[in-house]
Order: sequence, then structure tokens, then C-alpha cells
Amino acid sequence: MTNKKWFFELKNYDRIRKKDNEKGEALMVPISIEAFVNKHCKNNPGENPNQLRKNLKQVVKDKKNGETCHNCGQEIWAIGSAVAYQGCFSCLTGEADSSGDYEISEVCWS
Ligand SMILES: [Zn+2]
Repeated sequence: MTNKKWFFELKNYDRIRKKDNEKGEALMVPISIEAFVNKHCKNNPGENPNQLRKNLKQVVKDKKNGETCHNCGQEIWAIGSAVAYQGCFSCLTGEADSSGDYEISEVCWS
């Protein structure tokens, strides 16, 4: 794929990178669709909130239906798939570690 920072720079993506929970597990951070739309559109004034909301609802549905990354077969990352194109966290960002990044709460299960 392209260089590692592609997704985060292009999309002015707000990361948290808070670390693992008390059990030491690396987890993604759940966020609601509305909260993410607000946050993302504030950082990216060019984005259309209605379109983003629609994309998010669609990919949440897709992820629940077991949609996988067409590149590597892993489960898709709903937020990245809504903002950029359908894929898993690793293929979209070039990073293996997704802990401390957001995922829509309904599908934030891993
Ligand atoms: Zn992938």
C-alpha cells in the first residue's frame, strides 16, 4: 500500500492513542456515529456530514454482515471504510496496531 501516514494526513484524522485497558489488551475506542461525524467534520470542513453519516451507516451494516477487506480478508474497519474506501485497519493505514483508534461503537468488538 501507500505510505503509512496516508490515511491520517489526508483525512486529518483525529487519533487518541490512549493505551491499553487495565488488562493490558490493546483495544479500539468506541464512538457513536454522531460523535464521529461531528468530530471529523470539524477537522475536515470540506466533508459533507450527511454523506459521511450515510457512509457510516452503510459500512456498519456491512461489517455486521461480515464484510471483509478485499485486499487481505480481515474484518473491515468501519470508520476508515466510510472515510476512504472499504478495507481493514492495516490496509487503510499501513499500521498493524489499531489500539487507541476509533471505531463505531456498534461494531467495535475486537
Ligand atoms: Zn486488509
